[in-house]
Amino acid sequence: MNADDWRAWPHRRLNALTGEWVLVSPQRTQRPWQGEATAAVAETTVPYDATCYLCPGNARAGGARNPKYEGTFAFDNDYAALLPDAPPGGIDDCDLIVARAERGRCRVLCFTPRHDLSIARMTVPAIRDVVDAWAQETVRLGAESRIASVIVFENHGEAMGASNPHPHAQIWATETIPNELAKELVRGAAYGASHGGACVLCDYVARELERAERIVYVNEGVIVLVPFWAVWPFEAMIVPRRHVGSLDELSAPERDALADAMGVLTRAYDRIFKSAFPYSMGFHQRRASGAAPDDLHLHAHYLPPLLRSAAVRKYMVGFELLGMPQRDITPESAVARLRALVGEL
Ligand SMILES: [Zn+2]
Ligand SMILES: [Zn+2]
Ligand SMILES: [Zn+2]
Repeated sequence: MNADDWRAWPHRRLNALTGEWVLVSPQRTQRPWQGEATAAVAETTVPYDATCYLCPGNARAGGARNPKYEGTFAFDNDYAALLPDAPPGGIDDCDLIVARAERGRCRVLCFTPRHDLSIARMTVPAIRDVVDAWAQETVRLGAESRIASVIVFENHGEAMGASNPHPHAQIWATETIPNELAKELVRGAAYGASHGGACVLCDYVARELERAERIVYVNEGVIVLVPFWAVWPFEAMIVPRRHVGSLDELSAPERDALADAMGVLTRAYDRIFKSAFPYSMGFHQRRASGAAPDDLHLHAHYLPPLLRSAAVRKYMVGFELLGMPQRDITPESAVARLRALVGEL
C-alpha cells in the first residue's frame, strides 16, 4: 500500500491550533441533491414521489432498490461519509500535519413510507416506531468492536441541508469520539469530580425544574427546555428525567414520552412562523463501548436556524466564527413564545 493511500479514504485531520478534528470524506462525490431540483421542498404534499430515492419500491443511487416497506426502513447510506473497511493509515509530521484514517458506518432511517409527513405530522405511535428503530441501530452499530460513538441526527428542511424532503434521519457511527461529544464528556467528568460524582445533566434539569423559567414542556418521561446557554434562536433540548445513557436504555413508557415530546416540540416549531420549520436535531449518547454507567446522560439537541420569519435566518458570521456565538433575543423570551405555542396545540 502506498503511504499516501489514506488521502483517498475517510480520515480526520487535526487542527493544530485548536486540537479539534475535521472529518474528511474524499470518496463522497456525486451525492444526489434532490432539494435543488425540486421546487418548494418544505411543502411536499404528495404521499409518494416516483423520483424520490427514499420512497418504497424506488431505485436508489448505486442500483439498490428499496423494498415496499410499510413502517420504518434503515439501510447503509449509498454515499457514506464513513466506511467500515477503509485501510488504516495517516500522517504525523511534527505534530503539525496530522491525519488518521477514520472507520465507521453511515446509515439512513426512513421514518415512514409517506413522502409528505414529518415528525410534527406523525402520530405518537408512529414516532415511537422511529425511536425503537434508532434504539436498534444504536445497539447494532455500538456492538461493532471498532465503534466508539453512535450519533443519530435529522436535518429537517432544505435550510438545514436535507437533500430530500422524505422524512428520514441518519445514524453515523465513528471509531473516535467526535468533537462536540468529547467536549461534553470532559465537562461532565470535571463536574462529577467536583460535585461528589453527580451527573451534570441530572443536576441541571433539577435546577431548571425548580426555577421553572426555561421549561417548554414536561411529561412523565422527559423534559423539553431551552438551555440557559442556547445559541440558536429557538434552540431546545429534550432530556429524559431518569439517568439513562442511550436510546436503547429507555423503557417502553419513556420511549412513548420521548415520542410525545418530539411531536409537541416540532408542532410548536411549525407554528412559530406558520410554516415548516427547519432544524438539525440529534442525540448525544454514552460511549458505545467501555463506558461507565455515569458516562453521559442521553439528550437531544434541537438547533433551528430561523430568526425572525420563515425567510430570515441566523448565520454564524464575523465575531461568531472568530470569537464566540452571540444572540440578541434571550433564551427566556424564546421559551415564552414556545410555551404559548405548546399551550395552543
Ligand atoms: Zn419519498
Ligand atoms: Zn444524569
Ligand atoms: Zn449534547
